[in-house]
Amino acid sequence: MRFKRVLVKLSGEALAGPEKAGLHGETLMAIASDIAAAANAGHELAIVVGGGNFFRGVQGLGKGLDRASADSIGMLGTVMNALALEHAIDAAGVPARAMSAVSMPALCESYARKRALDHMAHGKVVVIGGGTGNPYFTTDTGAALRAAELSCHALLKGTNVDGVYTADPKSDPDALRYDHLTHDEAITQNLKVMDTTAFALAREAGLTVVVFSVLDAGAIGSVLAGTGRATFVTP
Ligand code: UDP
Repeated sequence: MRFKRVLVKLSGEALAGPEKAGLHGETLMAIASDIAAAANAGHELAIVVGGGNFFRGVQGLGKGLDRASADSIGMLGTVMNALALEHAIDAAGVPARAMSAVSMPALCESYARKRALDHMAHGKVVVIGGGTGNPYFTTDTGAALRAAELSCHALLKGTNVDGVYTADPKSDPDALRYDHLTHDEAITQNLKVMDTTAFALAREAGLTVVVFSVLDAGAIGSVLAGTGRATFVTP
């Protein structure tokens, strides 16, 4: 199996489906079923989930909030998504365990690397909320960090397009999709794979980043099986 242990980064927006904000039940269940199918196919999975469907720190800046307070609200949004995904993956038939980088023991387990590895070794899908646990970061950076420290074979970055393009395919009909790129090529050609901090960490850790569309049904399973459309970014 090419990618036995993988970290999947899901944005909050992915869970909002057509609603654009909050959680969309059918979308949540479809993504959870996709994750459960990948687990049943023998993959060990950790999920890092964003919170943009509830709140992004930058949204608080014009509202009288300082950045650290606004980011705290953002991190709480990611934990809400982690709890929702935990339930949905459980309901799809695979045990899941939400863990938060910010301790809130009444709601879920605190994130600890060895515990996360242990859960995965026992067939549980680990769903990590709270990002890195610090303000001024994004969940993309949390995803690169967890993928590296959990020794994942790949970081699957779910977006709303099926890979990395030469230009924005939504506004430029001539944009071409890359099947494969190196980290250095992505940097020298100024191609946006993840935010700069996250990508620097992925490159430093030699992580393979797979950019794919979460909008396609069964996307995670087909990317892992090698049949889905995606861009592979490798050292
Ligand atoms: N956040 C943070 N530290 C982290 C990860 C996230 O402070 O390590 C906050 C930040 O305010 C961010 C929000 O949580 O805007 C939601 O995360 P993100 O924007 O990455 O979510 P996504 O865009 O993937 O839905």
